[in-house]
Amino acid sequence: NRVYLLARRPKGMPLQEDFLLETRELRSIEDGEILIKTHYLSVDPYMRGRMNGVKTYVDPFELNEPLTGGVIGEVIESKNERFLIGDMIEGRLDWADYSLSSGKGIRKLENYREVSLTTALGITGMPGLTAYCGLMNIGKPQEGETIVISGAAGAVGSIVGQIAKLKGLKVVGIAGSDEKCRWLKEELGFDAALNYKEESFYQNLKIACPNGVDIYFDNVGGEVSDAVMRRINYKARIPLCGQISMYNAESTPIGPRVGGQLVTKSALMQGFIVSDYSSQFREASAQLISWVKEGKLTYKETVIEGLENAPKAFIGLFKGENIGKQLVKVI
Ligand code: NDP
Repeated sequence: NRVYLLARRPKGMPLQEDFLLETRELRSIEDGEILIKTHYLSVDPYMRGRMNGVKTYVDPFELNEPLTGGVIGEVIESKNERFLIGDMIEGRLDWADYSLSSGKGIRKLENYREVSLTTALGITGMPGLTAYCGLMNIGKPQEGETIVISGAAGAVGSIVGQIAKLKGLKVVGIAGSDEKCRWLKEELGFDAALNYKEESFYQNLKIACPNGVDIYFDNVGGEVSDAVMRRINYKARIPLCGQISMYNAESTPIGPRVGGQLVTKSALMQGFIVSDYSSQFREASAQLISWVKEGKLTYKETVIEGLENAPKAFIGLFKGENIGKQLVKVI
């Protein structure tokens, strides 16, 4: 069984040498367990934090132990009565060809007859729930308002913008390439999409949001957020979903203090972890699946083939190589 281990804790941008692909013998399956063949791996920005060896809301990865992440797989042996051979499942499993599991935290993909299974790692899975729950609970979108989304062409951001469109908002996305901006405008129906790498970015933001910003859904932090924070309106809501621009930083850069802006605008900034809203998952996921079936939400996946290329896919997240959800196809 080929398994990816964390060989070294990355310093700054992760490198291929921080990962080690090892062949390990798979022990035999015990009572209550299932053996899963990996079909797809999800690579996610939060995994970078787990590589630092510091406990946050999830335990850190241990050195020379398997990396784990979202997996879609097939049950190929079962000693657990909940699962039959051939069941397709999703869960947090090893970056490996095969995983053994007690079945705890493993979800059977039974509602996926008319929607692609891979969406269980994207639009109908964790990123979709993050977008939906963060937007609805903290953003509280109202028809006619303006929302700005950073990391807008990624897995989470691209869904936030589409849901906001369905709710009747003016949607402005921020992303790192013209190709991504074109996708947001032409295929996802965003009202405007701005490339933050352009020198005129701040000017473009002002032009795109003549009435200011009512909701800022932040996936990236850093200078992009510094710019958007200058444009927020009275009673703005700012769901802090992620700060990817900082995940590889070795020291924390000091930007403008936003406290004054929050006070004078009576604005709300709130961080969240998707699991805060686990009691809403059943309803939210049913809503996302039906929107996808009805063609009201669309999505893109960037797929890299081969388990051996998982680190490349992961590192690519920090270089903006993905459009939509980044996946690794293992078989
Ligand atoms: P994405 O699919 O958005 O992939 C990451 C993207 O981030 C890249 O494609 C790149 O796009 C952008 N990016 C990378 N580095 C920078 C940078 N320095 N400055 C600006 N943009 C950058 O990932 P996800 O949708 O999975 O995650 C998006 C965010 O949401 C992350 O911060 C993640 O940690 C967070 N998250 C939070 C969750 C929660 O529970 N709170 C759950 C899931 C995700 P570009 O080309 O535009 O630069």
